Amino acid sequence: MEVTVVGAGVIGLMTALSLEEHGHRVRIVAAATGAQITSAVAGAVWFPYRTGPADKVAGWAARTRAWLEDLARTTPSAGVDVLTGYEITPTSDEPWWSAACELEWVPAPVTGAPGAWRFVAPRCEPAIFMPWLEAQLVATIERRVVLDLAAEAGDVVINCTGLGSRELCDDRELQPIQGQVLITAPGHADLGVSITDDRDPDAIFYVIPRRGELVVGGIARAWTGAEPPQVDDTITQRILRQAAALGIRVGDVHRINTGLRPFRASVRLEREGRIIHNYGHGGAGYTLARGCAEDVVGLLG
Ligand SMILES: Cc1cc2nc3c(=O)[nH]c(=O)nc-3n(C[C@H](O)[C@H](O)[C@H](O)COP(=O)(O)OP(=O)(O)OC[C@H]3O[C@@H](n4cnc5c(N)ncnc54)[C@H](O)[C@@H]3O)c2cc1C
Repeated sequence: MEVTVVGAGVIGLMTALSLEEHGHRVRIVAAATGAQITSAVAGAVWFPYRTGPADKVAGWAARTRAWLEDLARTTPSAGVDVLTGYEITPTSDEPWWSAACELEWVPAPVTGAPGAWRFVAPRCEPAIFMPWLEAQLVATIERRVVLDLAAEAGDVVINCTGLGSRELCDDRELQPIQGQVLITAPGHADLGVSITDDRDPDAIFYVIPRRGELVVGGIARAWTGAEPPQVDDTITQRILRQAAALGIRVGDVHRINTGLRPFRASVRLEREGRIIHNYGHGGAGYTLARGCAEDVVGLLG
């Protein structure tokens, strides 16, 4: 089939790759690519965060994890590495996403927390992984804004526009959630370990190592501003205080990035005539991308 994918974030590129692997002829149209989009800001570790619905997320996340682990093993140049993930939770109850992988309750690898859930956590480096994905494609990216999905060419049009669907589909269930991360030198952190401290939902903390730096966050609150968020110094200072309190010695701050997660209580993955929607992955686009892309292929029939 001739398929147009709208959007070139992790969801659009992964969907295009899955479609080409199944023999479809793909063209991609996107308003922006590279460092300008949400997918470039992500810590990009496998971790089902601020997304739903729980029953579908488990399957999408499990399939994506298997695919990423395989890629890390076979293709180091794709920028994916397998880390050990820890989630520090308010109680020792299993996290809502526990069906997506094997979890073990273990002593927390930080100061001041009794225990944590440990799991295998593949992590993508967006600056390597996104160009790698693009390089796997036969399709090239046409840069322009789409105002009407139905007017796009092809047998089927796949909508992977993330937050763009608020306007494009007039979808008010799609809500921006503010993010802010510090990119620091590795300091004395363990580059094989990703840690999330979820005990205070208003002050989420995480450290996600890349090959030569750390991503240290964060914040996750509804964003109502008309313009994208600017760097907030009070958030930066709070993140650094949390790192110190947990005994995580991060290095010098190199830069600070902000972004908006495209949150929806349920990822929209459904067919509407010639259009298939695949957007609203919240804080988990990298965690769900492959499983969702495979479901899109399935909807083509
Ligand atoms: C600080 C932060 C940390 C994060 N950490 C993680 C993490 O550790 N793990 C994880 O799994 N997820 C994480 N996320 C979430 C993840 O980044 C998103 O879920 C994911 O990037 C969404 O991808 P997307 O392709 O849907 O959207 P985007 O990356 O926003 O891409 C959307 C694409 O659609 C295009 N587009 C939009 N509107 C139009 C239009 N009208 N016409 C044409 N093109 C259009 C855009 O130009 C762009 O190419 C994080 C997010 C933030 C902000």
